[in-house]
Amino acid sequence: MIKKVLIANRGEIAIRVMRTCKEMGISTVAVYSEADRTSRHVQYADEAYFIGPSPSNESYLVIDKIIEAAHASGADAIHPGYGFLSENAVFSERCKKEGIEFIGPDAFAINTMGDKITARKTMIAAGVPVVPGTTEPIQDIKEAVKVIKEIGLPVMVKASAGGGGKGMRLVTKEEDIVSSVSAAKSEALAAFGDDAVYIEKYINSPHHIEFQILADKHGNCVHLFERECSVQRRHQKVVEETPSPIMTEKVRKEMGKHAVAAAKAVNYAGAGTIEFIVDDDLNYYFLEMNTRLQVEHPITEWVVGVDLVKQQIKIANGEKLSFKQEDLKQNGHAIEVRIYAEDPDNNFMPSPGKIRYIDEPLGLGIRHDGYVYSGYEIPMFYDPMISKMIVWGKDREEAIARMRRALDAYTLTGVKTSIPYLRRIMDVPAFVEGRYNTHFVQDHAGELKPEEDKDEQLQDIIAITAFADYLDSLKQSQSKPDNNGKALSPWKLFGRKKSVIRL
Ligand code: ADP
Ligand code: ADP
Ligand code: MG
Repeated sequence: MIKKVLIANRGEIAIRVMRTCKEMGISTVAVYSEADRTSRHVQYADEAYFIGPSPSNESYLVIDKIIEAAHASGADAIHPGYGFLSENAVFSERCKKEGIEFIGPDAFAINTMGDKITARKTMIAAGVPVVPGTTEPIQDIKEAVKVIKEIGLPVMVKASAGGGGKGMRLVTKEEDIVSSVSAAKSEALAAFGDDAVYIEKYINSPHHIEFQILADKHGNCVHLFERECSVQRRHQKVVEETPSPIMTEKVRKEMGKHAVAAAKAVNYAGAGTIEFIVDDDLNYYFLEMNTRLQVEHPITEWVVGVDLVKQQIKIANGEKLSFKQEDLKQNGHAIEVRIYAEDPDNNFMPSPGKIRYIDEPLGLGIRHDGYVYSGYEIPMFYDPMISKMIVWGKDREEAIARMRRALDAYTLTGVKTSIPYLRRIMDVPAFVEGRYNTHFVQDHAGELKPEEDKDEQLQDIIAITAFADYLDSLKQSQSKPDNNGKALSPWKLFGRKKSVIRL
């Protein structure tokens, strides 16, 4: 039985994992780098171990240091969170050798799914539909051109070792193939140390829909339905929701079965996610499997009523799943937004720095998973995600209304955040109506701009109206000396421009 867990991560996910540990009576051990001395995940843990300099390749990514801290603290298990070492097969294997339970799958599952080419082959063998394309790395350009002739443009050139939206190139013209393959190769080599790339068909009007699965060590596996993650920027998720607004009961059942088959094909144990790319007609294709807890896992927890971290720990303990597929139901609707320290109105430039003041929204149906506090300085060394706002409503409409309230009530000063941008998404008619695909952010760029520069013409009208008002007020003040003899200043009038135009 696991009694003490070391969390090999930082920030919001470290705290998220510790919360469940506390509820289960399990002691928690934090690790931290130089930059994280004042991080809340350190304060939240029962004990904490310093593991080195700020860059993650000198701290959070150094297996020896994590193992050393685990032994020093007497932890009997390690939870890797997401990112960092969570999908590292060497780390999973090392934990096993050291007699420490890795709360996640074994090296075989991580290796098979971590390499996208191997994963594609494994899925084909398991009868799971994959995106049409190659099942071997591209060796030369001639071959690439031949493949493209077969499956047709547009195509995606993708790094086999890719992740986090990196190492991917969309090719729409044949003449771009040479440059795209070499660009994807060099990006993959730099980011993942492996330059193998393959080609798959680009699915038009793509929707990203993924299935949460849970599998125990006794061969039982269930899915916990889907998450819709099509609101993306640069292939990275911005908003996630469940249920998906485009899903039907029939397709949900089929996809769920394929998700379970995918996990079983690698003898999976633990929590995992099967990502699919889905077209407008609900044809779906396996994209990849993430062999870890996902950033957006809370929306599933809320709608299905299952604590996924608790399940991960129980599975690691060797327990059997306590529910069957037919016991699981979707209840209501949940939405998550990822809040980043970045400036959405300045090309999403990172905005690290000190948080002067933070006031988080509260109330019915709001869950806020974060780690920052007033006076906390966001380090520049890691992912600039500050927190995740998750809301639940009895239906999608209520959930959207609740998200608007939550974002309106969220005060955070000192750094720029994506909150205003996320708030605007909640008002875009295509989003509100559930009619969107992965091109949403690009297609609705105009609607997602800040109020002030949405329409220059409108601005002109506002200025002219304000100026006319100014002239009027001048006239009035001249004809009415009892107005204290003062006209309203043009600045005041310009300040009123919104009310002028809205009247
Ligand atoms: P999701 O956000 O759906 O959980 P992502 O693929 O966006 O999945 O990854 C989650 C986190 O893990 C992000 O912080 C991302 O940068 C990081 N990540 C994902 N894959 C890799 C990888 N191969 N190498 C390094 N970091 C990764
Ligand atoms: P990563 O490992 O970086 O998360 P994925 O294979 O999961 O890479 O793809 C990330 C995103 O890129 C998808 O959610 C989708 O928006 C887009 N994408 C990937 N492959 C395709 C494809 N074949 N057709 C259309 N869009 C795709
Ligand atoms: Mg992915």
